[in-house]
Amino acid sequence: MKQSIVTLDLEGVLVPEIWIAFAEKTGIKELRLTTRDIPDYDVLMKGRLNILDKHGLKLSDIQDVISTLRPLEGGKEFLAELRSLTQVIILSDTFEEFAKPLMRQLDWPALFCHQLEVVDGRIVNYRLRQPNQKQKSVAALKNLNYHVIAAGDSFNDTTMLGEANVGFFFHAPEAIQKQFPHFKPFDRYSDLLAAIKDALK
Ligand SMILES: [Mg+2]
Repeated sequence: MKQSIVTLDLEGVLVPEIWIAFAEKTGIKELRLTTRDIPDYDVLMKGRLNILDKHGLKLSDIQDVISTLRPLEGGKEFLAELRSLTQVIILSDTFEEFAKPLMRQLDWPALFCHQLEVVDGRIVNYRLRQPNQKQKSVAALKNLNYHVIAAGDSFNDTTMLGEANVGFFFHAPEAIQKQFPHFKPFDRYSDLLAAIKDALK
């Protein structure tokens, strides 16, 4: 058996989209946009921060909403079983400040993500630990001689999936699946788990 490691996207794969949930709670429609709609992450994030400022919303408002979110149905069990089989790292473009209440519910898996810059409770900026961290993390793991299996749902996962030895889509919209037909798509945890088990052999 190869020494393998699995990297998973977070939002859309294990937990709901944080910004969509926040948009629903606040009724601010523009906050519903995600990387599925705007592939350029910097454009997307700058837009989100501007909207928050315009509405006078603080980090704690967002954290209040996040603490009411639950993992997707079956997501926690999927992750627990996967972690009993191999090592798993969550590679997400979210921020430590947002992720914590969700990581608690997922029993604290390893998470690589980014940080927010917060002044007096107001999010003034965001700090990417490095650009394209998902792809670079997979490349680093391969450099450590791991066989990497990756799964994600969106545009910002495709370089990670491409860098991995094996890349799968999970819960990806059809339009994105069509643009990247070489990544096998799955919609059920049981199917993804079976495919990962195969790739672990
Ligand atoms: Mg996602």
